[in-house]
Amino acid sequence: MTRLFNNPVSFADELTAGFVAANRRWVRAVTGGVVRRDRVAAGHVALVVGGGSGHYPAFGGLVGPGLAAGAAMGNLFASPSSQQVYSVARSAADSGGVLLCYGNYAGDVLNFDQAEQRLKGEGIDCRTVVVTDDISSASVAEKNKRRGIAGGLVVYKVAGAAAEAGLGLDDVERIARHANDRTRSFGVAFSGCTLPGSATPLFDVPSGRMAVGMGIHGEPGIDEAEVPSADELAALFVSTLLAELPAGVDNASDQRVALILNGLGSVKYEELFVVYRRVEQLLDAAGVTVVDPEVGELVTSFDMAGVSLTLAWLDEELEEYWLAGADSPAYRKGGVAAGAPDWSTRSAVVGMDGGNIEEIPAATDVSREVARLITTALRAVTQTIDENAGVLGQMDAVAGDGDHGIGMQRGATAARSAGEAAAERGAGAATVLTSAGDAWADRAGGTSGALWGRALRTLGEQFGDEQEVTGQGVAQAMRAASDCIRSFGHAEIGDKTMVDAIVPFVDSLEEAVGAGTPLAEAWLLASQAATEAAAATRALVPRIGRARPHAQKSVGTPDPGAHSFALIVTAVSGVIAGRHNTEK
Ligand code: ADP
Ligand code: MG
Repeated sequence: MTRLFNNPVSFADELTAGFVAANRRWVRAVTGGVVRRDRVAAGHVALVVGGGSGHYPAFGGLVGPGLAAGAAMGNLFASPSSQQVYSVARSAADSGGVLLCYGNYAGDVLNFDQAEQRLKGEGIDCRTVVVTDDISSASVAEKNKRRGIAGGLVVYKVAGAAAEAGLGLDDVERIARHANDRTRSFGVAFSGCTLPGSATPLFDVPSGRMAVGMGIHGEPGIDEAEVPSADELAALFVSTLLAELPAGVDNASDQRVALILNGLGSVKYEELFVVYRRVEQLLDAAGVTVVDPEVGELVTSFDMAGVSLTLAWLDEELEEYWLAGADSPAYRKGGVAAGAPDWSTRSAVVGMDGGNIEEIPAATDVSREVARLITTALRAVTQTIDENAGVLGQMDAVAGDGDHGIGMQRGATAARSAGEAAAERGAGAATVLTSAGDAWADRAGGTSGALWGRALRTLGEQFGDEQEVTGQGVAQAMRAASDCIRSFGHAEIGDKTMVDAIVPFVDSLEEAVGAGTPLAEAWLLASQAATEAAAATRALVPRIGRARPHAQKSVGTPDPGAHSFALIVTAVSGVIAGRHNTEK
């Protein structure tokens, strides 16, 4: 249970504000997250980490000398937007380039990749190492599909130390990749977590039972068992991790490992120490030497009761950087010299607030009229998403991470405000949609946030700021938005994503408009097709996105992104038919 909050929608922003206020010695706030107060040394690599909020000390708590140069901090359990990542990286970087390092989640990959492209486009050398340590989330043959959990700390730690030592970007990247190749984690959970403002946990574990392999967002586990004794859990952890040695380690005996025994939120230090005692005995018996173990809360999930064990198989180089000094709000080790603090409060990047454009391009009256209809549509969209946020979250919790309702709510709300603000300043259709799309992507985070942001932007490009919009034009623009989502997200029809509702929608719209049906009627027919197609996704097995590792669990529940798409186009159909109040 999360007891202390104000408006749940503001929780992530408020926790970031308080975190920065309490840790000014190490961090300063920039758009999208935090960067090192003392800046990276001239010419050094900037390690930029990040992900959703709700996992403290990941990720802001790991920013400081010897560790990360910056952290992009998304909304609760939702990836940061590409603008957030870009802004943090720009602010954190010196001339040595940027290494982006984060856990392997679809939304994070989309947004960090987009930021990487943008940084490269501006001539900043930028590389990416994605953390894939959770052995429960895919087979060893598909290690690149595994999620990142507590083992991320090992990767960040050695990469941060290598950057602090002044190694170049090639070497820092190589060392981070090597650390990830040699890091394995395995976790269990005894109960789910409850997000601020939510009356029920995001996910449940039956009382007296233990979910084996459950992810840090409650992604369902691979097995369920009785809650074991501390020693039995230690035995399960050690035997499972010794059964999957990384390439280059033929035999556990005589090896040295970095170790993290991580508490997810409500398993406390005392219990962890009891488990650790046995873990070390068992590793010792296997001939494995533990080097500087970490036992405590290093990646959490609110009040989730869970524990994970991470082993990183060291060689000389990894051990050197694992043992090097680090000084951050939540993680300190040995001694490390900080540079001169930068007490200026300015953010190094300006104009990054998604959706707030400085100058409104000229528009015709005709296009302003379309823009007015679009802002009405954005209000209708926000209303339907607000009403359905709970359902969307529950749907996403079945096999995903439960954030679809919150993410869509934040995205739609921000898009509505940005669109309205632009329209009030006389913007045409393209500018209203572009502002709305950027705001959506920036505030929603997650996979769907990035895709919706792109889609709205594409619609804007199609509508322009000058021309009249016909039924044919709407159908053509929706086709372009659909193509954009497909090429950006690489999902095919049948993969169980929003694409499964979008394509039938556009097919139906094009056909009806082509046959001369008036737009309002054609849109309504297409919305019905989308609603049916979204419902039909319940039978599908997800082949892409966050639900993929738990494909079978998802069967019987429609895809949340397809469902929200159908809700949205249905709400818009009321606006096109003139049934929705055009005033606020
Ligand atoms: P996240 O998966 O990052 O938690 P959300 O929960 O907000 O993001 O959105 C999940 C939805 O996003 C899924 O239900 C699916 O419809 C959609 N989605 C995920 N991956 C893709 C993709 N590659 N292409 C299109 N849609 C996708
Ligand atoms: Mg989700």
